[in-house]
Amino acid sequence: ATTPVSNFIRNIIEEDNRTGKWNGRVETRFPPEPNGYLHIGHAKSICLNFGLAHDYNGACHLRFDDTNPEKEEQEYVDSILDSVRWLGFDWGKHLYYASDYFDKLYELAECLIRQGKAYVDSLNAEEIRALRGTLTEAGQNSPYRERPSAENLDLFRRMKAGEFADGAHVLRAKIDMTSPNINLRDPVIYRIRRVHHHRTGDKWCIYPMYDYTHCISDAMEKITHSLCTLEFEDHRPLYDWVLDQLKDIVPCHPQQIEFARLNLTYTVMSKRKLIELVEHGFVDGWDDPRMNTLAGVRRRGYTPESIRLFAERIGVSKADSWIDMGVLEDCLREDLNERAPRRVAVLDPLKVVIDNYPENGEEECLAPNHPQKLEWGKRMLPLSKIIYIEASDFMEIPSKGYFRLSPGAEVRLRYAYIIKCINVVKNANGEIMEIHCTYDADTKSGTAGAEKRKVKGNIHWLSAKHARQAEVRLYDRLFAQAHPDAGGDYKASLNLHSKKIITAYVEPSLSEARPEDRFQFERHGYFIADRKDTQPGKPTFNRAVTLRDSWGK
Ligand code: ATP
Ligand code: MG
Ligand code: MG
Repeated sequence: ATTPVSNFIRNIIEEDNRTGKWNGRVETRFPPEPNGYLHIGHAKSICLNFGLAHDYNGACHLRFDDTNPEKEEQEYVDSILDSVRWLGFDWGKHLYYASDYFDKLYELAECLIRQGKAYVDSLNAEEIRALRGTLTEAGQNSPYRERPSAENLDLFRRMKAGEFADGAHVLRAKIDMTSPNINLRDPVIYRIRRVHHHRTGDKWCIYPMYDYTHCISDAMEKITHSLCTLEFEDHRPLYDWVLDQLKDIVPCHPQQIEFARLNLTYTVMSKRKLIELVEHGFVDGWDDPRMNTLAGVRRRGYTPESIRLFAERIGVSKADSWIDMGVLEDCLREDLNERAPRRVAVLDPLKVVIDNYPENGEEECLAPNHPQKLEWGKRMLPLSKIIYIEASDFMEIPSKGYFRLSPGAEVRLRYAYIIKCINVVKNANGEIMEIHCTYDADTKSGTAGAEKRKVKGNIHWLSAKHARQAEVRLYDRLFAQAHPDAGGDYKASLNLHSKKIITAYVEPSLSEARPEDRFQFERHGYFIADRKDTQPGKPTFNRAVTLRDSWGK
């Protein structure tokens, strides 16, 4: 609950409130097309639209922009509802579907025809394209442009009645074939398409186009500020044109405002590419923890709070820019640093025998659940004669500045004792099988003796007989290049080491982890118990993010 940073959209809203343009009303909408899962780019738009509505006591509508039935499915609708809710937003009663307006949209198209503002064109798609012209060359009128209104009406009704084949006719807005803005060169507003719609079934064989549908849907819902990404700037004159023609019929004329979309390094954002990653098996489904879908980042371990923090931090502007993936990861680190209990896991175990520890000895060591939040209390870590440490915490021949374990050197076992390495046992191939140490019984953490001697290294460990095994998935960025789209085929930039599955040792209490419990594994990073694969008493952990950014540094 920080004070929101101002931006150009807030300035517009505040000015509107000052002049009373909308009588103080602020109504926004988030209008996804249900043709894929929502991704982190959508999260920017969701946080913006729902955030503004919240801050100005307005409402944000969730509207499915479902006018393109070939690519749309109920599965996508369900996942979108789920993701918006997960992000922490509530549309209340404001759930809409553009397909609910099909009757109204049809009726308004007849109005345009009657006003002489729309006509049925019988050219095919290729002919229409050829006459549309280019950026430097004006378009030319279709020979059907001057069809009398009555004939247009008759043809349009017969299009709807299913008398014509797909593509035989289209309905076009009659604007200006010489406009420098190609969007105004008599855009197609209806086409014949015999496709089953996931909500309206086979009721319709004509479907309205996006630009026509969108502005009318906004107007029907009395949206005040219709926020979209910059690519739609050139479509704004069409948005306004349609509503101007219908001004006596639709309830209001919302203001379209464009903002810069989120571009994030080390990822791809287009739905076509995300679908390709799923369908060609480059990832394990839409919710693969490496995907930038909201379903994916959720499984990865992101919290809704971290994503909302990210949206706030990147802000909103009119200029396209790139955000580094590290910014998103830092938001997660910040959030989980606060809220994730600390636990111990040994990912790559090396066996250590404490020679002078009693044979069947066992004792309790107390480890804080959070180093700053003492009120979170401590948990018990059992210690015994044989422990595991991280293989990387031992070097037989230490490099310069290496302060962890090596022959003759001492380290502290966190929450326990100082140990000293006295022997290294290798197999016939020269591989290290185990190391032997002695411990100094006077140095237990939390006792007066602990203060007597300082050592530089401080490593984590687990008692071998108490540690539990768990599957841990070490995820990393899905792409190895900052700009996967820059060099032709984005798939060439896939990071071949983005997923590594290991069996790790974890402290006993972790076997009780429930789906979506998040932890900091000390010295490793933040991990989440996978929401799908965690079984009672048998968790599977996903690495959400390491403690420090090791990319591009
Ligand atoms: P694609 O072009 O890959 O199909 P889209 O933008 O068409 O994606 P929609 O479902 O239409 O996907 O998007 C819903 C809303 O989310 C739109 O208002 C769109 O502007 C916004 N949005 C999509 N991608 C981004 C992004 N990268 N940054 C900010 N907003 C985005
Ligand atoms: Mg799209
Ligand atoms: Mg879209």
